[in-house]
Amino acid sequence: MTNQNVVVSEAMASSTVANPTPPFPYPSEKGRASGFGVRRKCMPQLELCENAGRINVWIESMKALSPTQEKGSASPAAAPSVPEQSSWITRRPSALSMFEEITKASMGKQIVMFLDYDGTLSPIVDDPDCAFMSDAMRDAVRDLARHFPTAIVSGRCRDKVYSFVRLTELYYAGSHGMDIKVPANGSHLRKANGKAVLFQPASKFLPMIEKVYKALLERTKSTPGARVENNKFCVSVHFRCVDEKRWSGLADQVKSVLREYPRLRLSPGRKVLEIRPIIKWDKGKAMEFLLESLGFANCNDVFPVYIGDDRTDEDAFKVLRNRGQGFGILVSKIPKETKASYSLQEPSEVMDFLQRLVEWKMLTCRRW
Ligand SMILES: [Mg+2]
Repeated sequence: MTNQNVVVSEAMASSTVANPTPPFPYPSEKGRASGFGVRRKCMPQLELCENAGRINVWIESMKALSPTQEKGSASPAAAPSVPEQSSWITRRPSALSMFEEITKASMGKQIVMFLDYDGTLSPIVDDPDCAFMSDAMRDAVRDLARHFPTAIVSGRCRDKVYSFVRLTELYYAGSHGMDIKVPANGSHLRKANGKAVLFQPASKFLPMIEKVYKALLERTKSTPGARVENNKFCVSVHFRCVDEKRWSGLADQVKSVLREYPRLRLSPGRKVLEIRPIIKWDKGKAMEFLLESLGFANCNDVFPVYIGDDRTDEDAFKVLRNRGQGFGILVSKIPKETKASYSLQEPSEVMDFLQRLVEWKMLTCRRW
């Protein structure tokens, strides 16, 4: 992978699609569509069962991924037993309690920080438009970026996440990494000759995403509390304010819209269903792209740290495991299946960790 052909000027960046042809193959749309048709014709009952089964899987996944202690949820499955909790903490120890080991492993290497936004830097709130980060957290991230290259990697629209973070010195990857912008004056940028780097591998999908967003707005408006968010290259359907008894109906509405868009895929997150183009691109690829932009494509002396709370962050955790570089930190209060090496319970612990990292770096610099 190279990013040479995606360097655009700052002026162009806001209005020009940098890479109009996605370089990644789509799955066979024809095959998918025809397979669907055949099954519908021959086995309507089977499809009905599969349909209901899949919706149940999504709903169970959303519940499992969500800290359902919030808002007095009655789901007993949410509260792990004490042995479960301690076994998970043994396998995924706190990044705070393992701080010395972590920094020791990074010695002599360049730490590069990747941070998810919702549930990592800001709490999960009912209204996604109000997921503000605290001033203290903003200060912590600003300090962090003074010492380490720092990127925000979010499922949100890039402009939206920037409006929350408001720090020009960071690198931003929105829409689950499908909309990446590297700052023009990034002091760590080694390849872009002072120009902004914009990479949008799903740009061909923009008209389709706009259409599906409008269709979802229309189809879900009968469900109280349902919220559809246009994230430019992907769409989120939020379940946060929907009564759990209506989740199945809402998921069915979403699925009925998606049936007409076989080139889009749907995945569950924390009280959200995410709709994305089917391309071979995710937060893990975005992290690798950013590392390459920073000049660390084939370096052994880089130490990437990725902190995130959701299933989409697992793609980045997996990349780190495969590279054998750095580590992932999952933000979660409850045990979850994860490729991350360590855990933090909530955004306040993330802030503690970032502050300790800055303090450690300052001490280390002074010592040497
Ligand atoms: Mg998140």
